[in-house]
Amino acid sequence: MKIPPFTTEEETKILKPEIMKEIERVIDSGQFIMGPDVKEFESEVAEYLGSQYAIGVNSGTDALVIGLLAAGVGEGDEVITTSFTFFATAEAISQIGATPVFVDIEEATYNINISLIEEKITEKTKAIIPVHLYGHSVNMDPLTEVAQKHKLKVVEDVAQAFGSEYKGKKVGSIGDVGCYSFFPTKNLGAYGDGGLITTNDSEIAETAKMLRVHGAKKKYQNEILGFNSRLDSIQAAILRIKLKKIDEWNEGRRKVDKAYKKYLGDVEEIILPSEQTYTHHVYHQYTTRVLNGKRDGLQNHLKEKGIGSMVYYPTPVHKLPLYAYELDLPNTMQLTDEVLSLPIYPHMSEEKVELVANAIKEYLN
Ligand SMILES: *Cc1c(COP(=O)(O)O)cnc(C)c1O
Repeated sequence: MKIPPFTTEEETKILKPEIMKEIERVIDSGQFIMGPDVKEFESEVAEYLGSQYAIGVNSGTDALVIGLLAAGVGEGDEVITTSFTFFATAEAISQIGATPVFVDIEEATYNINISLIEEKITEKTKAIIPVHLYGHSVNMDPLTEVAQKHKLKVVEDVAQAFGSEYKGKKVGSIGDVGCYSFFPTKNLGAYGDGGLITTNDSEIAETAKMLRVHGAKKKYQNEILGFNSRLDSIQAAILRIKLKKIDEWNEGRRKVDKAYKKYLGDVEEIILPSEQTYTHHVYHQYTTRVLNGKRDGLQNHLKEKGIGSMVYYPTPVHKLPLYAYELDLPNTMQLTDEVLSLPIYPHMSEEKVELVANAIKEYLN
């Protein structure tokens, strides 16, 4: 039996009849860009997330670019974030002419180490991007405190954490702006590209809405330099269906976590992800740490057994050719060598988890 790191096979089986009907309805309506489905989705998703405004865009990367600009960040500013993330977090900062300033991460959560933020703040610092990596919330209270003290905007990168919570609130609704991705592998995935910006600030919402349609409030009255970054009606119709399932399917991922803990909890050379008391983890990735230099060997062993696993990410952002910064980020460097993401998806059976666990134990013991 082959076990992929992620698959939509089961969910597609469940939803296909309904999705095909909805796609047909959108096609018959003749409204393919924005339109009523996007409006409906925006209002449903705003309600789900507990944010006042939700603005659909073309991708998570665009959500970050437009979210930063709408929050007033731009040319020459500095934005503090982590290097232990997908490239797009930093790319969005650089894309608008600002500079990413990388802070090290905490070992326990793989998220930004908040106690190291303040020393990186300069006169040019405008914002912080906390990344809720792998579906686990950043500790937002102390982060918000630092931001408020220095009058910095908080732009949350929620690409990997749709439905995750911080102290009972959905992540993305806590900072000034929340930026989500609907890339097909994300917890709420479309069948193509898509993204979302959320905010409780009417001015930010207004600017973001203009930026996504060429900087115009009124058609053909372009006021600022914008983008063509809209959510397609078909994607919005699909997302409306999948939004109804998100809690159940995030719960499915949490069951997979419990199963991994049952079978691997006492294996010494692998550290399983842990959930802090302030979060409700949605396990976008099931990222473990493999100790004693055994990560690559274990990954090869799993591959031979037909089990897919991934390294997110093989190179920390500050070491990518675009940046190639010399920085002292010891946890970022160490965890880059140790992380291994095991198969996880909402409908993964306990039997499959056990197979993965057995293959791991075979190699590590
Ligand atoms: C996926 C992802 C993005 C970008 O989202 P796209 O929709 O692929 O543009 C940004 N940040 C993080 C942390 C991501 O995982």
